[in-house]
Amino acid sequence: MTFSFEFFPPKTPRGERTLWDAIRRVEPLAPDFVSVTYGAGGSSRERTVEVTKRLVTETTLRPVAHLTAVGHSVAELRHIIGQYADAGVRDVLVLRGDPPGDPGGPWVPHPEGFTHAHELVRLVKEAGEFGVGVAAFPERHPRSPDWDSDVRHFVAKCRAGADYAITQMFFHVEDYLRLRDRVAAAGCDTPIVPEIMPATDVRQVARFAELSGAAFPEALAHRLEAAAGDQDAGHRIGVEHATAMAERLLAEGAPGLHYITLNRSTATLDIHRNVLNSRRAPHALATHR
Ligand code: FAD
Repeated sequence: MTFSFEFFPPKTPRGERTLWDAIRRVEPLAPDFVSVTYGAGGSSRERTVEVTKRLVTETTLRPVAHLTAVGHSVAELRHIIGQYADAGVRDVLVLRGDPPGDPGGPWVPHPEGFTHAHELVRLVKEAGEFGVGVAAFPERHPRSPDWDSDVRHFVAKCRAGADYAITQMFFHVEDYLRLRDRVAAAGCDTPIVPEIMPATDVRQVARFAELSGAAFPEALAHRLEAAAGDQDAGHRIGVEHATAMAERLLAEGAPGLHYITLNRSTATLDIHRNVLNSRRAPHALATHR
């Protein structure tokens, strides 16, 4: 099983301190990698390059730099891939991205850029010895008209050179299992790593879920609403739900877990500790026999 953590590039000096505090807390666990998201535009994109560079030079962690095609010409994308390579970054999570400002708005490719992620997968693979990940959608990409086309395009992206995929956040294990089965039935064995989102704050997670199109379970929403204003209770509920999901996903053969941290480590580390403990428990019993 692999495990990894996702961070985003902060906007303020305070955010920077929070991020590095979280990074230093996950570092001793020696995760398989940590990933850094790529902003919708402007300076946040440069910050992704800066944070991944610092991860290479100042930590023992292996950074995976996200890179989106949206708003970039092919020449610009080549330049950024070159910056990653120069910084010692060897892994890229390749994404198409969404229209800036209105993620649900009409998709308009850059006139000298790419239309879909598989083209960027090829560019990154041609540029050097990069490990390449891509996105997968347990509830189907919001713009996919049907499952057939969604799976077909996902498989094409894998065949373009992706080594693994990471899912969008989701809250029902069955959605992940169905996607995995559909992809396997299409003859593709690229590992699909589920993304785990600790749902500790109902408003925040509902907003993310709406943006990503993930269905947020009503029962979980009600429990979190009932605990509104009590941070500890929200934390307990979110950690409990995510732990149960993570354990079931691993029992069903998921190849690993990719935790969204939102640059805070507490909930994710609690979930990860629970998962490790439950995996150790049967082993510990066996050694006592
Ligand atoms: P694609 O694979 O290009 O798919 C987009 C749509 O086009 C799908 O409906 C697909 O079926 C369809 N399609 C693909 N190929 C074809 C084709 N040849 N012909 C017709 N249709 C086709 N966004 C950011 O801005 N920054 C990030 O850091 C970021 N990180 C993410 C991390 C993860 C794990 C995930 C799951 C998403 C992330 N996103 C990020 C969001 C992502 O950019 C959006 O979800 C985007 O809408 C889809 O990107 P994609 O790479 O899956 O696109």
